Amino acid sequence: MTGSTCTRCGKPRIVVKTYDEKVDNSTVTYTITECSDPDCQKMVNKTLLTEKKKRQFIKDEQVKREEARKQIIEDKKNHKDDDED
Ligand SMILES: [Zn+2]
Repeated sequence: MTGSTCTRCGKPRIVVKTYDEKVDNSTVTYTITECSDPDCQKMVNKTLLTEKKKRQFIKDEQVKREEARKQIIEDKKNHKDDDED
């Protein structure tokens, strides 16, 4: 697969690394490409990092909320038991 272009600046992307990975009985070749413009790639990396951090933050918040929700349900259950008898 060639002819990949940067979504940011439209310049052609260059292959910086290829590696093979065995999946079951077949080998899958992964290709890592970067923008041919180093400055642009730097910006892309920065954006990716920001997005990654944002996603991680959202994920953490979801976990926290889910745990808080479970805790409330647990608390209610315990109180109900107390009230019933
Ligand atoms: Zn670019």
